[in-house]
Amino acid sequence: MMNVTYESTRGGEKGLTASQAILKGLAEDGGLYMPVSIPKLDVPLSRLAGMSYQETAYEVMKLFLTDYTEEELKNCINRAYDSKFDTEGIVSLKKASGAYYLELFHGSTIAFKDMALSILPYLMTTAARKNHVENEIVILTATSGDTGKAAMAGFADVPGTRIIVFYPKGGVSRVQELQMVTQKGGNTAVVAIHGNFDDAQTGVKKIFGDRGFGAQLAAQGFQLSSANSINIGRLVPQVAYYVYAYGRLVRDGEIQSGDPINITVPTGNFGNILAAYFAKQMGLPVKTLICASNDNKVLYDFFRTGTYDKKREFVLTSSPSMDILISSNLERLVYLSAGSDANVNKRLMESLKDTGAYEATEEMRKRMEDFHGGYATEAENAAEIKRLFDETGYMIDTHTGVASAVYQKYVAKTGDKTPTVIASTASPYKFSHSVMEAVFGNQGDKDEFAIIDELCKVSGVAVPHAVEEIRDAQVRHKRECSVDAMENVVAEILGMAR
Ligand SMILES: *Cc1c(COP(=O)(O)O)cnc(C)c1O
Repeated sequence: MMNVTYESTRGGEKGLTASQAILKGLAEDGGLYMPVSIPKLDVPLSRLAGMSYQETAYEVMKLFLTDYTEEELKNCINRAYDSKFDTEGIVSLKKASGAYYLELFHGSTIAFKDMALSILPYLMTTAARKNHVENEIVILTATSGDTGKAAMAGFADVPGTRIIVFYPKGGVSRVQELQMVTQKGGNTAVVAIHGNFDDAQTGVKKIFGDRGFGAQLAAQGFQLSSANSINIGRLVPQVAYYVYAYGRLVRDGEIQSGDPINITVPTGNFGNILAAYFAKQMGLPVKTLICASNDNKVLYDFFRTGTYDKKREFVLTSSPSMDILISSNLERLVYLSAGSDANVNKRLMESLKDTGAYEATEEMRKRMEDFHGGYATEAENAAEIKRLFDETGYMIDTHTGVASAVYQKYVAKTGDKTPTVIASTASPYKFSHSVMEAVFGNQGDKDEFAIIDELCKVSGVAVPHAVEEIRDAQVRHKRECSVDAMENVVAEILGMAR
């Protein structure tokens, strides 16, 4: 099998193994790790229909993580994708109103982040063993609401690791916040920052880039890594569910093996949709990738005009996990579109940092033609959630609502009838207040759990364990800090002498 190595999108590092790239998370030059080439699937499409989720995941991941042995990788996969998921297929595909909703929220924190974060701790501890790492690994994570909980659920009490999560105070849903601040585990810490998600993400990247701090950490037996979707160990497991969904469509007779599909993804940091693009590059018959944004429509504008411009108001919406203006993983697409020219990418990313904007060339834009950008306003999102529920009885969350609304607009505009998979990224229970408001109008100041019980009545879907367990859970994390104090807070949590 071909050995795949990893290099930074900004040219500063080359020749890393997959396990080294996973351990480091982010390259020292600020770039993201990319495989030197995207491998092709080596199972025939017609065989996908007969494969389990775990088998599919192995077929995809073995092609990227070539320095893991078969035994190591299968062990990671089997420990990650087990009864933590409340459906045997790990993900589930629901047909409603002519589209296929790929439910990626059957894991322990009921959002799609579980798909990658339930395996990342195993990939990382295996990587630490393979590379003879003696230090304790400190996972620093900025979250727009879902990554934080999913990462803590994965890393809680994993020997040799600590995890510190920063979330924007006031920028996440009530259930998301409760899930995080009630997290158990002696190695977990949660900090609310006085800022938005971009501030949290920029703050974390700054800590990674501070060499002096890195040296202090090393001297005290720590090294940093990331559980954000910038880590290639997040991206690779996500490719698997698109390949698996294709196999399900064939198995269920919805398409013939070889038929094209479209994929619609509610997008924030561009990790999930990039995984779908990787699946396409691997040979999965995907035609158009529909990138759905909420009112923070920086990606919609980018695909429409070729200019990425973050200089705009940050809008808090009912789909908080997509409230992002600096979409980190887009850097990987920009790099690929520049013909893997790190110098071009680096110039654009420097322009983003210095001026708040950059412009893709015509040639780059041509290479991005597989993408269609769309967005849905708050009203369009709510109307779509209600339409789908009224017509079919199927309740979707506010992020999936954005994707579904954008998909409807796409079909109206293009007439494209290609079978379409819509990534359904969270359980409606995670955003009960917003979905009940969308369908039944103002919920006043009703208690969150009263709304949850009503949602159960109207949808007929049982309240997930992840919600039941926070009903009476004790709040364990009360730390808050300003954006400027993040590094000091990390030092304090780790008990570092400074
Ligand atoms: C993180 C998240 C998204 C956005 O995914 P990206 O990979 O950041 O684009 C969408 N929906 C939900 C529910 C999420 O948690």
